[in-house]
Amino acid sequence: MVAYKNSSDDPSLKEYWGKRDRKVFNNENTLDRMKLARKQGYRCALCKQTLQNGEKVTVRNLEVSTGKFAKLVHVPCIK
Ligand SMILES: [Zn+2]
Repeated sequence: MVAYKNSSDDPSLKEYWGKRDRKVFNNENTLDRMKLARKQGYRCALCKQTLQNGEKVTVRNLEVSTGKFAKLVHVPCIK
């Protein structure tokens, strides 16, 4: 498994990512996507990495125990 260079799991980068990515993200996405992203803590629903890791992001209906929900995921994370 390849570790992402800019993983937001690194606490020293967390604040940086929080500020910078939210701003970029909000500029690039619709209101619906922004709401989803906020709910997910700006992380991919599948790999749990930040949505801003350079991958394309899309909305998928994912099945969970309580039903089907629209979630933001990286395109390459969809199998
Ligand atoms: Zn992902």
